Amino acid sequence: ESVVNRIAAGEVIQRPVSAVKELVENSLDAHSTSINLLVKDGGLKLIQVSDDGHGIRLEDLPILCERHTTSKLSAFEDLQSIKSMGFRGEALASMTYVAHVTVTTITKGQLHGYRVSYRDGLMENEPRPCAAVKGTQIMVENLFYNMAARRKTLQNASDDYSKIVDLISRFAIQHINVSFSCRKHGATRADVHTVATSSRLDAIRSVYGISVARNLMKIEASDNNPATSIFEMQGYMSNANYASKKITMVLFINDRLVECSALKRAIEIVYAATLPKASKPFIYISIVLPPENVDVNVHPTKREVSLLNQEVIIEKIQSVIESRLRSSNE
Ligand code: ADP
Ligand code: MG
Repeated sequence: ESVVNRIAAGEVIQRPVSAVKELVENSLDAHSTSINLLVKDGGLKLIQVSDDGHGIRLEDLPILCERHTTSKLSAFEDLQSIKSMGFRGEALASMTYVAHVTVTTITKGQLHGYRVSYRDGLMENEPRPCAAVKGTQIMVENLFYNMAARRKTLQNASDDYSKIVDLISRFAIQHINVSFSCRKHGATRADVHTVATSSRLDAIRSVYGISVARNLMKIEASDNNPATSIFEMQGYMSNANYASKKITMVLFINDRLVECSALKRAIEIVYAATLPKASKPFIYISIVLPPENVDVNVHPTKREVSLLNQEVIIEKIQSVIESRLRSSNE
């Protein structure tokens, strides 16, 4: 049974960055305002995520890492919205089958926190009282220690680390009211470091730099017609002066980081046709639409989504981008 669990877990957590994504999403779900990461060896040796969220109650610790344990479903949520949130109660459990997980947490009004380690879904010890300030710290150590083949395929620590930095960068420009940092073990400087702000452009500037931020234009699009599509989109797109060798597309749908290859392709086509010299754009887009209109792939590792009335939505976004490009290029 434990081999089966391990294989399943290795599917959910494919690389260090998949663990980081799950941990940071949990911190965001816990209403954190500050999320700090420490990474050693591209995440294979250590991923440590510290937040200042609401913490985990002592009585919830024993089953925290059991599969399908989640605090995020209520009987009132309909099946559709469960589906749109993707997997539930799989992430932490999975990590304990392929790594050593230690949780330190304190809830509001408590004098001290608790620390407990997990392996294969179970607590290794009773939670021990410990000093803690606010929120939760989760340490994932020796990822894939029991999966020799996986470790072999992940031998480029700097590659894994840059995937993590890229992920945190994306979260940081979506959740601008949260401060993020990401630091490599042993480094004095963080590679991502943002402070909470109310300006999206400031957040983009502090993550991607002035050379990106100064070449951005704001975009907005929406539709509210059940017969065609219902959505609201806002974002930033690069102008004619932005030159890059690769496209950067940051897409959030209902606050969740996702991929939509049809939309990405559509945007690339507009840029190539309108602005051939700057055809590798930087694009940040956040779309909000009824959760039941988002189809999340049932496979936990796939971020690809499709949307109800996707063609209509894509065409509307395309035409907004195109007219923005034309008017800025005149
Ligand atoms: P899910 O997020 O789908 O509920 P997870 O396996 O990611 O499942 O997490 C299990 C549960 O652990 C969450 O439902 C939440 O109650 C708790 N949890 C995990 N991380 C945190 C955190 N950083 N702060 C507060 N609670 C957390
Ligand atoms: Mg989660």
